[in-house]
Amino acid sequence: MVVAVVKCKDYSSVGKMLPKALSLIGGMGKYVKKGQRVLVKPNLLLGKLPEDAATTHPEILRAVLVELKKIGASVIVGDSPGMGNFDGIAKKTGLKKVCDEFKVEIVELKERVDVERKQNKLVKLFTISKLANDVDVIINLPKMKTHTLTHFTGAVKNIFGCIPGKLKPQFHLRQQDAHTFSRMLVDLNKVVVPSLHIMDAVVGMEGQGPSSGSPREVGLLIVGENPYEVDSVACSVAGIDKAPYLDIARKQKLLGKVVVKGEKLDSVKLSRKFLPARSSFDRIPKWIMKMFKGLFTAKPWLLPEKCIHCARCFEVCPVDAIKMVDGYPQFDYNKCIRCYCCHEMCPVKAIGLKDSFLLKIFKK
Ligand code: SF4
Ligand code: SF4
Repeated sequence: MVVAVVKCKDYSSVGKMLPKALSLIGGMGKYVKKGQRVLVKPNLLLGKLPEDAATTHPEILRAVLVELKKIGASVIVGDSPGMGNFDGIAKKTGLKKVCDEFKVEIVELKERVDVERKQNKLVKLFTISKLANDVDVIINLPKMKTHTLTHFTGAVKNIFGCIPGKLKPQFHLRQQDAHTFSRMLVDLNKVVVPSLHIMDAVVGMEGQGPSSGSPREVGLLIVGENPYEVDSVACSVAGIDKAPYLDIARKQKLLGKVVVKGEKLDSVKLSRKFLPARSSFDRIPKWIMKMFKGLFTAKPWLLPEKCIHCARCFEVCPVDAIKMVDGYPQFDYNKCIRCYCCHEMCPVKAIGLKDSFLLKIFKK
């Protein structure tokens, strides 16, 4: 399939550049017909400002809503953040304002439905958002970011937001290492299948993504039908050479040779690669990991001067490895399964990651 890559130097250019990108893959009309119910699924991970680069930028949503309005689709915008007040998150990220301008509803994906897919390799039954299951079309608006567990998060990982909020940590409990978690993601992407993926790669996030990293200008829109192809192009641009779920997708023949239209891929590859977010070695057998996880993984680490005592880390931890002592989290590293949900959900970057001795050497 084709992936469109177009330059988009800043967010004021998205309205002009998105139609160009869409025209390279057949136009929005190829994916959405008049009157169809469309769920637009941005990345609303947590309540951050657009310039923090943790969430989909409102100008991306605006440009998509303009295109959908031209077609006459019935649009709803929705996501399920891991934690926090949805309305507050929608406001802070700037997406609520854009939805209000277009008189489009923005909703938390709370209502659930069980969907079975017997052919799946690992997870055959998912509880997903009912809305995501019911609409005619889903348009995915991922953000280009590094990720502590899966190395990269883009189109494929953004679909994890279609799992209603509090159910997400359970997946981390069941699929603890990066490889198994990635197998689950590949299965999930067979159950929730957007028609189109429009990646916000104007400004991405590098380093300790998906929420505690640093904004990084990339200046691109990456658009396609196949989430693995979109992510694989984004990884090439960012110089991320390995994301476990892309390897799995290749093995399952979900990712093959990618045809890029628009910019030549070599011409848009960044000269300085994204700083990685890698926090563990891949494919370490479970029993070794259990016994020696301190050697192979980074551990969550409190930066007390930043902590605002909100206890979100405590609430999100799937294995009760955190207790709050005098308003600060205290980690039990024996219990900790290194899912990094606490790091991801901390609103003020007060949880860092401390590399193990081996990881430090490996990264060097
Ligand atoms: S302490 Fe943090 S990294 Fe460890 S299991 Fe809990 S949420 Fe995951
Ligand atoms: S570390 Fe972060 S998430 Fe945990 S209590 Fe402090 S501010 Fe809240």
